[in-house]
Amino acid sequence: MINNFDLFLKIWIGFGVLTFAYLIISKIRTPYGRHSSNQWGFMVNNKWAWFWMEFPALVVMPIFSIIGPNELNLFSILLVSIWFIHYFNRVIIFPLRIKTKGKKMPISIAFSAFFFNIFNGFFNGYYVGYIMNEKSIFDINVFIGLIVFIIGMSINISSDNKLISLRKNSGGYKIPKGGVFNFISCPNYFGEIIEWIGFSIIALSLPALSFTLWTCFNLIPRALNHHEWYKESFNNYPVKRKAVIPFVL
Ligand code: NDP
Repeated sequence: MINNFDLFLKIWIGFGVLTFAYLIISKIRTPYGRHSSNQWGFMVNNKWAWFWMEFPALVVMPIFSIIGPNELNLFSILLVSIWFIHYFNRVIIFPLRIKTKGKKMPISIAFSAFFFNIFNGFFNGYYVGYIMNEKSIFDINVFIGLIVFIIGMSINISSDNKLISLRKNSGGYKIPKGGVFNFISCPNYFGEIIEWIGFSIIALSLPALSFTLWTCFNLIPRALNHHEWYKESFNNYPVKRKAVIPFVL
């Protein structure tokens, strides 16, 4: 079973590389949020779509971690806890807070995110519950990874908060300013990437690395799309601002 697991995981990563190449080369703008489009089929409520498409991640990883034959230990509890905290915010808090009343997204996008979250949740949960050997939470990589995860999470949440607050008084899009926004267009994506790099440093496992890579494969093309969109939409968009990695990209 372990051999099959590794094989499926490598196929999954290969599929991610192809998806990334396709998104970069085609410059296709995944049609939700500012790029939402009814050309992609039946449209569903944005907030409910966020809840349902992210929900599998919240439950699948913890369930497989818990039902597997491996005894829960401090290390596995740490992995499940930080995963759960991240997804509790994404599944419950984020959709309640976003100011996208009346906005819709194609059901095809919600479905693809739903299955993406099942796969990533399964690979990480199965690894923790069935395959992982016991590890110490006092190893140096755990300490470093946790700090990286916390920094990433605070950049992600504070940037999402800032974007949400731009809609306080009017419904349109504005140029976000301040903090990491002074350097890049999408600090929420940058923070999310940092977060999952931290998770990989803690876990030192192929499933965690796969999820970190998939996060990059999803968010880097989207950040480039957002960055182009900002430059097309605002004449006064700061010229020195990069898309997703300060001073680099
Ligand atoms: P966006 O930055 O596109 O949007 C976040 C929220 O802020 C939306 O409600 C959006 O409204 C609003 N918003 C964004 N920019 C502006 C602006 N300039 N003016 C006013 N309002 C604005 O992020 P996503 O919706 O793509 O992602 C949300 C979260 O989910 C992020 O934290 C991201 O990291 C995470 N995510 C993680 C993925 C992964 O693979 N791990 C994949 C996708 C997302 P509107 O929707 O109307 O545009």
